[in-house]
Amino acid sequence: MNTVTKPPRTDERQLHPEHPTEDPHTILHNGRRLDHAEGSSRPLKSRPEPQPRGAKVHGNRPVDQAEAAARFIASPEHEKMHDARLWDLRQKRDREMHAIPEWEDLRSLASAIKEHTLTHLDHYLEQFEASAQANGVHVHWAADAAEHNRTVHGILKDHGARTLIKSKSMLTEECGFRPYMASVGIEVIETDLGERIQELDNEDPSHVVVPAVHKLRTDVAKVFSETIGTDPDNSDVHYLAEAQRTATRPLILAADAGMTGCNFAVAETGTVAVCTNEGNADLSANVPKLHIASIGIEKLIPRLEHLAVFVRLLSRSALGSPLTQYTSHFRGPRKGAEMHIVLVDNGRSQRLAMHQFWTSLKCIRCGACMNTCPVYRRSGGLSYGATYSGPIGLIIDPTYNARKFSALPFSSTLNGSCTNVCPVKINIHEQIYAWRRELVRQHEVPFIKTALMKAAGELLSHPAAYRAAIGAANAVLAHLPRFVIYNGLNAWGKHREVPTPPKQTFHSWYRSNRGGAS
Ligand code: SF4
Repeated sequence: MNTVTKPPRTDERQLHPEHPTEDPHTILHNGRRLDHAEGSSRPLKSRPEPQPRGAKVHGNRPVDQAEAAARFIASPEHEKMHDARLWDLRQKRDREMHAIPEWEDLRSLASAIKEHTLTHLDHYLEQFEASAQANGVHVHWAADAAEHNRTVHGILKDHGARTLIKSKSMLTEECGFRPYMASVGIEVIETDLGERIQELDNEDPSHVVVPAVHKLRTDVAKVFSETIGTDPDNSDVHYLAEAQRTATRPLILAADAGMTGCNFAVAETGTVAVCTNEGNADLSANVPKLHIASIGIEKLIPRLEHLAVFVRLLSRSALGSPLTQYTSHFRGPRKGAEMHIVLVDNGRSQRLAMHQFWTSLKCIRCGACMNTCPVYRRSGGLSYGATYSGPIGLIIDPTYNARKFSALPFSSTLNGSCTNVCPVKINIHEQIYAWRRELVRQHEVPFIKTALMKAAGELLSHPAAYRAAIGAANAVLAHLPRFVIYNGLNAWGKHREVPTPPKQTFHSWYRSNRGGAS
């Protein structure tokens, strides 16, 4: 491991001169300051709070998001940190958005480009394939996750590859790619730091942009001490990042093959555009002689000029930064190397035919809807028990398995903030509501919930009955013993006090004071 020293500081030697130099936690390496997005986090107490784990998933049974969320909330340090960290991203996004007068026009344009592409997808897919082949790229098609995994394995086998470095890709998560590769004896090394942390901890990413955002740095220290031998008591982020870099670099340099995902696939030129902040996609694509890019078919955009629209929106929406550090264009193999593209459907064509839900395919995976969602921020991404979490997960996951993810569309307050921040104008909260109706129609909602909702609907649509019920409930609540209201059967009462019933409802006050008609 490289020695980390603290030589005298000078402004010109700092990588980040905008930060105050008197920060006692500043670590300098070879005279240059190391910094990190999480550099300001500090241990909250000497004995770290154990990391809450995600939802328990049992085959096809409905995932109990509320149970996993309750465990996350019961870990206050994690919950507070998670909430604050994501709200910070939301605020940064707002600042960037307000600095661009044409922001709303960009959103409309991005939405229109995506909708046009999706409604002409067959044409653009064929154009992309032809352009990529003309660039010397091998193009494969995969109908589902299993075919994707088999195809990649076949390519690796043909090249005798035993180790694969890869940059972050939600599509490969969706395909269960890492476990599949482990089952066929191929070692996968994630090159994105957050994703590598999750890989070493045997966990899925909890967020589409910041995969380990639910972890305190003490959690990371524990994972690294158990896997790469760091000091378990040292949770300094610079130390941890440097240790990971030192441990992973030799694996990257010796890898037989590299893999990337794709943010945007340009039909006109056959370009695979990948946006990262660590440059790890470039390592994955350029260090080994074999590059495989896995691309969901919804990633297509028609022309290179359209990329500018999305690049302006993506990083601002995701992290509140004007651009990702790297926007890499991969168009063909380097001299002496090979490039393969796997175009993956895995349920996308089916979703395209769902008239209420097809526009969810416009998603560019920026995570802004997750950062703004009060449920997501307080429950952690792993509580959803699915590849995609937060608001976008609520509308995508049931398209894969309506029974398994039947509880998810109910994990929302329907406040509409997700829709407001979405850079491609997906009507997320309306789709969440539409999924609730659809799941009731498919009988995937527990009987007790539908019966209660039906009764509430009846009551609310009959004002006289509603007022009588409220009056009776107020009278009863005032005299009920506590144990009747606050018991294990009443989930609502677990974290809340029922407010003291008012002596008079507003309606009856208005009638007696203003003489309004009922
Ligand atoms: S639904 Fe919209 S806000 Fe959410 S991740 Fe996708 S593009 Fe971003």
